[in-house]
Amino acid sequence: MLRAASQGPDAVLAVLDAPLRAAGFTPRTTRALPRAVRWSRGDARLALSGHADVVPVGEGWRRDPHGGELAEGRVWGRGACDMLGSIACFVAAAEATDAPCAILLTTDEETGMKAAEHALGEGLLSGIEGVVIGEPTGMAVGIAEKGVLWLRLTARGRNAHGSMPELGDNAAQRLVRALSRIEGMPLEGEHPLLGRATMNLGTLRAGDAVNQVPASATAELDVRYLPGMRADDIVARLRERGGEAIEVEVHSQHLPFELSLDAPLARAALDAASDGSGVRALGLPYGTEASKYAPAGIPCVILGPGEPGLAHTDRESIPLDALARGVAAYARLLEAYR
Ligand SMILES: [Zn+2]
Repeated sequence: MLRAASQGPDAVLAVLDAPLRAAGFTPRTTRALPRAVRWSRGDARLALSGHADVVPVGEGWRRDPHGGELAEGRVWGRGACDMLGSIACFVAAAEATDAPCAILLTTDEETGMKAAEHALGEGLLSGIEGVVIGEPTGMAVGIAEKGVLWLRLTARGRNAHGSMPELGDNAAQRLVRALSRIEGMPLEGEHPLLGRATMNLGTLRAGDAVNQVPASATAELDVRYLPGMRADDIVARLRERGGEAIEVEVHSQHLPFELSLDAPLARAALDAASDGSGVRALGLPYGTEASKYAPAGIPCVILGPGEPGLAHTDRESIPLDALARGVAAYARLLEAYR
């Protein structure tokens, strides 16, 4: 899979075809692209879910990012940790038991999560009572995620020569004033696993030349909010604070989710992930495909081998003993949902 990843996610999926058929699985693929595929064996209630796409290699590698090299007790390469390693564990776990099983694979998690929406829309999750998202958590059990809200703020004015600003209407200054009002906006609440909601000013653009009054200005805000908060409310309050001269549009959104520690899937995952030394429940500050499945009413946990801090880096790798632990945990989960 690590070598195939250089050819894109479909090449990764092709690698899995033979081993999954040999383990008794049959595939069903979405009609819509980017595609998702559900491999099923028996009357599966539990889905192991992963993404076959990886982020670009980038710079700085001292090993072949598409080599799949084994060294220092680790497998190295882009996707080893996020999350082809987990997908390898899914297959090995399915081979270790004859329990019913679904393995749900998507191809655009890093760029859009449309495949997860197609999977839902085309019924690929039918009969599924729990989804295990195999993102790397170091085998802690993720039961909550912040929501993601990306907003574009636009101020419009009228341009003029920089020597006669009184003839124009400076959009940059309008936007800066609005942003300072927004900066003080309280985002209420605190979550025991997720902490507080956050807001980050990510981009700010205005003006083409120092001797012009800019006619438009834009800013992008990245809001990470808590389960129980509503994106519509946040946007409405931002509009109120920003004032009438500022347009606020949502350009991307993932919903937050939270699973009770008493939910059967949370209990099963905590049991399965325990290696005797105890296991931690976790909240994630970023979004996974659980943000698509959980709001549709399907319980989700995030559980995978590998250190999250190595994902997307020039030293991405996964320890062999982490892979072994992943296989054992996923196999125990499949048995629990037999
Ligand atoms: Zn990932």
